[in-house]
Amino acid sequence: MFRRLKPDQMVECVCNVRLEELMERGICNIIIDLDNTLAPWGEDQIIPEVYQWVKAGHEMGFKFCIVSNSSPKRVRYFASRLGMLAAFKRWKPFSRAFKSALTQLNGNQRNTAVIGDQIFTDIFGGNRLNLYTILVEPISKKEFIGTRVMRFLEKTIIKRRKP
Ligand SMILES: [Mg+2]
Repeated sequence: MFRRLKPDQMVECVCNVRLEELMERGICNIIIDLDNTLAPWGEDQIIPEVYQWVKAGHEMGFKFCIVSNSSPKRVRYFASRLGMLAAFKRWKPFSRAFKSALTQLNGNQRNTAVIGDQIFTDIFGGNRLNLYTILVEPISKKEFIGTRVMRFLEKTIIKRRKP
């Protein structure tokens, strides 16, 4: 159980994820969370650094698919602005959310990474399918009330499970 909650990598911001390093690992597909990973929760702006990182990824040949528990309208908006695929209404951490993204990306366990800000959805879901997982710090302190409750539990696990 705890093993599945441990990310392969931890970074401050998605824009600090080193794309060259992923490529060296053979990774060319990225399943990515939306709220507080790509954009602040409840806001529709895209931080320039994040935008640049995505652009660089596309130029290097990475394919992205957003997997989010957010509304389809919101997911569609970011997917179109960032040139990403998207999996809708597939609740994380259930495997079908990630499987739907893998199908769209034509990806597999060896060439796909998952990036997100939550251990119990993004990291747990990705690890269950043996994908390479990267935990980022949430962009904004503001978040869904249910998420805030989970943060208390996450903090305990991060302390115990530094990679
Ligand atoms: Mg999130």
